[in-house]
Amino acid sequence: MANVDDTKLYDILGVSTSATENELKKAYRKLAKEYHPDKNPNAGDKFKEISFAYEVLSNPEKRELYDRYGEKGLREGGGGGPGMDDIFSHIFGGGLFGFSGGSRARNGGRRRGEDMVHPLKVSLEDFYNGKTTKLQLSKNVLCSACSGQGGKTGAVQKCTTCRGRGMRIMIRQLAPGMVQQMQSVCTDCNGEGEVISEKDRCKKCEGKKVIKEVKILEVHVDKGMKHNQKITFGGEADQAPGVEPGDIVLVLQEKEHETFRRDGNDLHITHKIGLVEALCGFQFMLKHLDGRQIVVKYPAGKVIEPGSVRVVRGEGMPQYRNPFEKGDLFIKFDVQFPDNNWISPEKLAELEDMLPSRSEQPIITADMEEVDLQDYDVSQSSTSGNRREAYNDSSDEEGGHHGPGVQCAHQ
Ligand SMILES: [Zn+2]
Ligand SMILES: [Zn+2]
Repeated sequence: MANVDDTKLYDILGVSTSATENELKKAYRKLAKEYHPDKNPNAGDKFKEISFAYEVLSNPEKRELYDRYGEKGLREGGGGGPGMDDIFSHIFGGGLFGFSGGSRARNGGRRRGEDMVHPLKVSLEDFYNGKTTKLQLSKNVLCSACSGQGGKTGAVQKCTTCRGRGMRIMIRQLAPGMVQQMQSVCTDCNGEGEVISEKDRCKKCEGKKVIKEVKILEVHVDKGMKHNQKITFGGEADQAPGVEPGDIVLVLQEKEHETFRRDGNDLHITHKIGLVEALCGFQFMLKHLDGRQIVVKYPAGKVIEPGSVRVVRGEGMPQYRNPFEKGDLFIKFDVQFPDNNWISPEKLAELEDMLPSRSEQPIITADMEEVDLQDYDVSQSSTSGNRREAYNDSSDEEGGHHGPGVQCAHQ
């Protein structure tokens, strides 16, 4: 049945690899008697070898590991030494039972705990000006009363049922030569791998080894820090016995701002102006992220086209770690045109005289077809039906669905 070419333990007991429990026991008793140090002081380590071989082979879990993976499987899987997780996940596919923190690494090397990652919302003002905030969180720390042992020194005993693993492996024979391995949480120790008698249990942590503690972290959001930037507090995550605590990692999340939009170190705003400002110059006040009122001026005689962008150099976000250098502020102009019929026809004629002259008027002849220009809301409709309407001939003009502005085109 052995998959691995390692039958040493069977050889030590002088049995075949298919030996039954009874055969093993008999062989062991016989050899143990023969090589017991009291009787045979010169046998050296022979007795130890016999005991070890029997200990392994008489335990179905260990025997199975040994059969499959030889000495290596036993070393890594049996005692919970370093690498135990690997061999276990190798065998069982890993992660099925969601092992908790340090419980499995207890006998092994110091494993690193999980990082605790928290999002931290930050306003654009705080990114601009910098801010120190205090963050309160609750975390596990090693119990000071028992130094994280769960009880008096020596009170903690390895669970005998699962041999400290916290899990029990059951091997079920499905068919000759075909076994199913199953593991379940040890019920005697609740998966802890160890037991502490009631009387020796630490009063403060009730044997849990850790207690909850409220911790205040001082978080410095520096000027110019960015969305998704991380602030790390090394080793501040949950503590657990035998585990090196992970980090607390704060991930900065920029809140949306009602005026400013950020793009790297640049800021963007949209500003509404009227036609008069677009043509005749303007100035307006803008409250910046540090509370300053800045005055944005544009001289008379310069024109702002609808949707165009102008820039104010050096009024963007401060650079991270170089806050005296700043990005730029981009202003996009939304030019508001006056409503229909905002001016009398006489005044309109006067205005036309002042405006740049029209391009040449086309000469309309009888063989041309005149069409209607109607109001159209881009956001409302894009159906072919409406488009067809634009080509209706003038016979249904009485339908009366031109907007008032259309008249201008007819004059
Ligand atoms: Zn304690
Ligand atoms: Zn147990």
